[in-house]
Parts: sequence; structure tokens; C-alpha cells
Amino acid sequence: MTEKSNYSDNRSKAAEFLRLAIALLGKYQLPTHPHNYQMAYEYVSGKNQSLIDDLDKLFGQSKSLEENQLQTLYKQYFLQDEASLEAMRQEIRLIISSILKEFNYSSGKLSDYSQSLNRYADILDNHHSSAELLEETHRVIEETQATAKSQHRVELQMTSVIAEIDSLRKELEQVKEESKIDSLTGISNRKAFDAALEHTILTSRETKKPFCLLLLDIDHFKTFNDTYGHLVGDKVLRYVAASLKRSIKGGDFVARFGGEEFAIILPATSINGGMIVAEQIRKAVSSGTLTDKATDTSYGKTMISIGVTQSRASDLANELVDRADKALYLAKDRGRNRVEKL
Ligand code: GH3
Ligand code: MG
Ligand code: MG
Repeated sequence: MTEKSNYSDNRSKAAEFLRLAIALLGKYQLPTHPHNYQMAYEYVSGKNQSLIDDLDKLFGQSKSLEENQLQTLYKQYFLQDEASLEAMRQEIRLIISSILKEFNYSSGKLSDYSQSLNRYADILDNHHSSAELLEETHRVIEETQATAKSQHRVELQMTSVIAEIDSLRKELEQVKEESKIDSLTGISNRKAFDAALEHTILTSRETKKPFCLLLLDIDHFKTFNDTYGHLVGDKVLRYVAASLKRSIKGGDFVARFGGEEFAIILPATSINGGMIVAEQIRKAVSSGTLTDKATDTSYGKTMISIGVTQSRASDLANELVDRADKALYLAKDRGRNRVEKL
């Protein structure tokens, strides 16, 4: 799930993005329905880096692009958040309208009651007969009791409304947390990574301490998938994620960057420290062997290549990622199952 874009482009910008988006869909022979158009618009306007990277992967694949691959992306980026948030908005609307009804009812009662009290005060002031006074006193007592009863109802209603709002708040927090988690591996996703990287850049500027970014990519994973199938491939992704999580310490941050790539942020760490940690991680991942206990099949060792880079004072997030990516490709070029820095 991804942050919503706030389409604030002016007429001419939006028209330009429209032309580019239509051209992009045309190039890949994709239907120009609203879902594809929304993704193409975000792509050409450069609004959503994580979506751009995912689309680039699809555009770059050798086989032709299938409609359902785009639908999956659309769901991931635009639907999940919207559906659950809309359900909650609906619930909140219901709660608010029930509170308003209750208050209208109760304030109606209160204004009736205050009119009765005023009338009673008039009667007290204007020397009415004792029978009239007694009758009016009875009436006021009855109204006081009825009003107290309806106030009690409001109190009960309010207690249950507070409980409902509190449980909605918890649900919202959960949705917010889930939107940062990669569903396959259970570690942070790309969206959470983007936020963590921005945050680390700011902290590093404040503390004037550099940090390291590691990009990791499983070696020959396509061959692995082709040999054992995607489901076993998914197990490898979970295994690598768990292994990475175990290999880092408290303040470090690990995320699935996309596909079979992972990213790690090591705050307050220089390049020497970053290289040592990367080497430990590479060894930890390749030291385990994935086996299928039921059939006693061994899937062998999982090798990864890692690119490491140290932040520079002027670095923007994409410059850091670019440099770590180049270091990763050095590691691939120089034989894989190794760590390189840039
Ligand atoms: P290299 O050593 O150069 O990295 O080679 P590679 O085969 O790992 O790289 P390539 O980019 O050619 O292939 C990546 C593969 O990762 C292809 C794709 O099927 C697989 N992959 C990406 N996401 C997933 C996933 O969620 N599950 C599974 N099982 N495979 C995935
Ligand atoms: Mg890759
Ligand atoms: Mg790979």
C-alpha cells in the first residue's frame, strides 16, 4: 500500500501527463481504462517512486505484459488502503449520526424541561392556589425524573460510543502498521523503507554521522524458481528475510526492497563497519540450507550479492539508492556471492 498522491497539478501539467500516460499505455498495448490510467499518470508524473520501480520491472521483463500483473499492482497501490479506510469512514459516519440523534433528542428534552422550570418559577412568584401549586410541583418532579432518565440514557450511549471509537482507533492503527509490512516475508516493505531512509538522512544531517545503505539481491534466483517452482522460491525469500532480521541489531532497519531484493540501513555506521556487517550477513545467509522435511529434498545454499555505500552529506535518497545499486551490480559482475562498495 502506498501514500496517496494529491493530484495538485495545474491544467497544462495535467494535460501533459495525460498525453504521456496515454502514450505509455499505447507503447505497451495496454487498455486505457481508469485503473491503468491512474498508474500511468503516477508513473509519468514521477509521483510515486516505489510504483515507478515496480512498473519498470514489469516493462523490462522479457515476456509480454499481462493485464493481471497490472491489476495486482493496482490493488497493491490503490485498493487495499481505500477499501478498509472507506469501511471505517462509513462506521464513523454511523456513530456520529447516532450521537447527533441522541443529542438532538436529549437537548429537545432539556429545553422542554427548562421551560417547565420557568413556568414553575412563575407560578411560585404569582401566588397561585395551594392546589395549583401542588399539581405543578408534582408535574415538575415527574419531568425531573424523566429528564434524569433520558440523561442517564445519553450517558450509557456515550460510554458505548467511546468504546466503539476506541476500537476503531485501534483498527486504524493496525491498518497503518500493516500497510508498512511485506505480506510474503513479514518484514518492512518498500514504502516503509522509503520513509526510514528519509528519516535516517535527516538524523544523519543533524548528528553529522554518516550511515550505510546495503542493497542485497539473491543470486540466480530465476534459475532457482525455474528449477523448484515459485512456491519454493517464496520460501527462500522468507528464509532470507528471517536470516537478515537475525543478523542486524536494534537500530538497524531491514526491508524487502522489491522482488528478490532487500535493503538494510545501518544508522551511524561508516563504510568499514558497513562492509563488515555486509560480509557477516552474506555468510549468515549462505550458511543455512533450505530443506523440505517431508520429502527430504535439499534446495542447497542461497547465495546473495551485496552493494554497500556510505551516505554523503549532500545525498538525496535516490542518489544513495543508485550508488548502492551500482555497488550491487559490481558484486554481480565480479562473480556474485560477494560484497562490493561504492
Ligand atoms: P542475478 O544473480 O543476476 O540476480 O540473477 P537472478 O536470476 O536472481 O535475477 P533476475 O532479475 O533475472 O530474476 C529475478 C527473479 O526473482 C525473477 C522473478 O521470478 C523472481 N521473483 C521476484 N519476486 C518474486 C517472488 O515474490 N516470489 C518468487 N518465488 N520469485 C520472485
Ligand atoms: Mg534482482
Ligand atoms: Mg537476483
